[in-house]
Amino acid sequence: MTARIIDFLNTRRPDGPCLVVDLDVVRENYLTFAHALPDTRIFYAVKANPAPEVLALLASLGSNFDCASVAEIDMALAAGATPDRISYGNTIKKERDIAAAFARGIDLYSVDCEAEVEKVARAAPGVRVFCRILCDGAGAEWPLSRKFGCEPEMAIGVLEHAQALGLRAYGISFHVGSQQGNTEAWDGALASAAGIFHTLAERGIQLGMVNLGGGFPTKYLKDIPGVENYASSIDAALKRHFGNRIPETIIEPGRGMVGNAGIIKSEVVLISKKSADDEVRWVYLDIGKFGGLAETMDESIRYPIRTSHDGDAKTPCILAGPTCDSADVLYEKAPYELPVTLSIGDEVLIEGTGAYTTTYSAVAFNGFQPLASYII
Ligand SMILES: *Cc1c(COP(=O)(O)O)cnc(C)c1O
Repeated sequence: MTARIIDFLNTRRPDGPCLVVDLDVVRENYLTFAHALPDTRIFYAVKANPAPEVLALLASLGSNFDCASVAEIDMALAAGATPDRISYGNTIKKERDIAAAFARGIDLYSVDCEAEVEKVARAAPGVRVFCRILCDGAGAEWPLSRKFGCEPEMAIGVLEHAQALGLRAYGISFHVGSQQGNTEAWDGALASAAGIFHTLAERGIQLGMVNLGGGFPTKYLKDIPGVENYASSIDAALKRHFGNRIPETIIEPGRGMVGNAGIIKSEVVLISKKSADDEVRWVYLDIGKFGGLAETMDESIRYPIRTSHDGDAKTPCILAGPTCDSADVLYEKAPYELPVTLSIGDEVLIEGTGAYTTTYSAVAFNGFQPLASYII
């Protein structure tokens, strides 16, 4: 909750649901990462919030950018980043998109199998590649599954193949799962990475970089460890596994960079019960899963919700969005406590919504406009 956002909402009174992002908070987050991890380059994960103002601010602060598509690369370039500050970090790329990135001067690519290495070698000869390894995501509230990365043993072959095809086998990457609450979660993957460095060195390939990915949390309902705690734990793990040969490191924060910088203003459209003696009220907002709150899927992310009645007694509510899709329920398995005095037409503020909201919003499902966003 920032005074600037409250002031903006009170003076501008935008109609309809909207996200307001405070750039001062983004700046603070960037400086906190930079200060806690002074030897690590920061590659902001553009997908978390690609608003041009956010990208321009981060570019001016010296950030690098982790992009997943040519469109994201173009946004980073338009924001002022030079190609040497951009990685193409998606392991799943069309060959013609790799060629388009190469034509723009991008020199750093992510792979997790030999077929992808072959595409990169054909479309972007001579560039640096890093191989993503699997990470189980334990401790994360939004784990990233087995979709990306390969087993560490396989990464050795993938990087050897890259080197043989004229690419520069450059490093290892992993992602410990988004909204990772365990500061030690990087340890296992760093042990695997060190093993790969060692094996490849014996075969004459010197890797240089470990990409520590994202995972840094933003505060929702529960308290979270500070970035310094993550930094010291990562630092200790690097020393433990790499000794005095610490590689170049990069991080790719998305959520941790912008999550707490944004607040969504929403309105209560309807409050109802399903029978006269129903104990739980259904509260329908003018935003739901299709309006930007997709991370409530499986009730994974529980956003703090503020109302103007917060001092009053609370009762459990099922919270749902406004669309005609039964999947558009935010919290039902674990109902959400809201004030009994909450009424139709009241405004509610959904905190911690600076990341993964505008980009998840549907174009016009049921005619509802995509989530409006104001960057201040
Ligand atoms: C989404 C993503 C990130 C950002 O993750 P957060 O948990 O939001 O910090 C970083 N790296 C890659 C490769 C990603 O896909």
